[in-house]
Amino acid sequence: MIISRQKPWDELTACLDGKDKLFLVGCGSCATVCLAGGENEVKEARSKLEAEGKQVTGYVIGQEVCHLLDMKRELRKHKAEVAQAQAILVFSCGAGVQSLAEISELPVYTATDTLFLGNIERFGRFVERCSLCGSCILNETGGICPVTNCAKGLLTGQCGGAENGKCELDQERDCAWVKIYQRLEKLGELDKMRRPVPFKDYSQGAKPGRRVVERKKIA
Ligand code: SF4
Ligand code: SF4
Repeated sequence: MIISRQKPWDELTACLDGKDKLFLVGCGSCATVCLAGGENEVKEARSKLEAEGKQVTGYVIGQEVCHLLDMKRELRKHKAEVAQAQAILVFSCGAGVQSLAEISELPVYTATDTLFLGNIERFGRFVERCSLCGSCILNETGGICPVTNCAKGLLTGQCGGAENGKCELDQERDCAWVKIYQRLEKLGELDKMRRPVPFKDYSQGAKPGRRVVERKKIA
């Protein structure tokens, strides 16, 4: 899941100077789960904006705001409300915000900061798990990602600094490579620790982002 959080209110409203009529877009997927941009948050923002003298011309909660075609359809359904607005304020991850920027002529602003790809540990607690490196090595590391969880992002470890299983750079955190070792030991796959590490294809994550995945229709 993409983890995002709502921007501090002052920062969020600072970009809306001179934009008094707004159409709001929330996201029914990740942003709803992380309480950054679901219906409740959008309605709450609407009340606060109105209390500050803004006019909210309408709002929509897209099923997935990153879905361009869906959002085109949604904006068509809310055409009259969008037409009255001077700007669109989006409560989704950065990908969703860019959907709106792509399909609308209006200025588009983000109400959130997009943080990471992570897991839900329990309700309201989200933990970072993947850095989207594009060349996954989890099969070699017992399903634990060192790119994300090792403070140095090392592809082999541990670095020599771990003490009592803790990272040398942060005693509060377990050393990712100690965890990988322990997991591989449990799985009877310690031979993976001794294998030469293949070069990692860092070009996959190179910027500017130009990765496009096109899947053939499943018959
Ligand atoms: S190795 Fe790369 S793709 Fe795999 S979990 Fe880690 S960051 Fe994500
Ligand atoms: S102690 Fe472990 S987690 Fe910390 S930098 Fe070294 S290998 Fe990475």
